[in-house]
Amino acid sequence: MRPLQMVDLKQQYLKIKNEVDSAILNVLDSTAFINGKPVAEFGTELATYLGSKHVIPCANGTDALQIAMMGLGLQPGDEVITPSFTYIATVEVVALLRLNPIFVDVDPDTFCMDPKAVEKAITSKTKAIVPVHLYGHVAPMEEILAIAKKHNLYVIEDNAQAIGSDYTFKDGTKKKAGTMGIIGTTSFFPSKNLGCYGDGGAIFTNDDALAEKLKMIANHGQKVRYYHEMVGCNSRLDTIQAAILKIKLKHLDEYCDARRAVADVYDKAFANHPKIKTPFRAAYSKHVFHQYTMKLNGVDRDGLVKFLQDNNIPSMIYYPVPCHKQKMFDHIPSVNANADLPVTDMLTPIVVSLPIHTEMEKDQQDHIISKVLEYCK
Ligand SMILES: *Cc1c(COP(=O)(O)O)cnc(C)c1O
Repeated sequence: MRPLQMVDLKQQYLKIKNEVDSAILNVLDSTAFINGKPVAEFGTELATYLGSKHVIPCANGTDALQIAMMGLGLQPGDEVITPSFTYIATVEVVALLRLNPIFVDVDPDTFCMDPKAVEKAITSKTKAIVPVHLYGHVAPMEEILAIAKKHNLYVIEDNAQAIGSDYTFKDGTKKKAGTMGIIGTTSFFPSKNLGCYGDGGAIFTNDDALAEKLKMIANHGQKVRYYHEMVGCNSRLDTIQAAILKIKLKHLDEYCDARRAVADVYDKAFANHPKIKTPFRAAYSKHVFHQYTMKLNGVDRDGLVKFLQDNNIPSMIYYPVPCHKQKMFDHIPSVNANADLPVTDMLTPIVVSLPIHTEMEKDQQDHIISKVLEYCK
């Protein structure tokens, strides 16, 4: 059996090696390492895939969130509603821009922002809502968008974990994850569903004027070189990464299907298990399983992780400390480490993520399943 990893990037690379290697060599040959042709080409191709008018490539998913919030003109003191049950990047940029993060609880099934909690958290200072499509499961966007519309708020989708997923509205309209809010952001970190071989990110919007502004912000606030109209930052997708992403984008749907197939096998193996709750899949969306995250009931989680490790099976806890309890926010008055987020506090100690990726082999998954069942009996 091939050694188990959370994500098997090597096997995935080997399948597209010839194409990737020659694309990288072409970039080396061109020496256009910054803003070479593949960058704009990839932006256009991703825009077409997503059905989004504009895609602005940038340096990483954290920058994408920061540029989004700068582009919307959010000002210090403005309140931004986000889940606490997410990766720190979502919230870190809020604090970095001196905005006030307002944490809301998540739904125990979807792991995503609970619309009822969002509505309750709105004040006269609220400017934006940032739903996170956690683990590859899209947040209930129809409800979130309705709340945003009613209160005149921006919606920024943190789509770092659900690229390739979609959403079907009650009237049958279908949209890709990340294209429903005023802005969507993503990350091309190597382990993401669409990952490059270094850092990368992108921002999506259908708004022409906003797209211009986002582009300028990512480029030192300039449209014309050396004429800086606003304070921006330096956030670029490398040409080599864009060249790799052009190739991997063609495989994205297939990659999502492969992840779903692994999830199907886990689901079946753990179905109706009294101590394991398999991930929920809402009917409105296609889960793309960035993570396969189960909820344990009456299982010693640390013991399970250790047992799996002893059997050469990696597993991960996403995330061991919810954002509202992170020390980095101690000084921010809007954040209360003792905030009443019962679902977040309930989920944090019981979630565990198993290996899931595009290259899982049957003997590997059988081994994982048998060891999980052995411990959780
Ligand atoms: C990965 C991730 C990010 C940040 O992406 P980077 O490219 O690592 O900066 C932001 N939000 C979520 C939910 C993520 O999973």
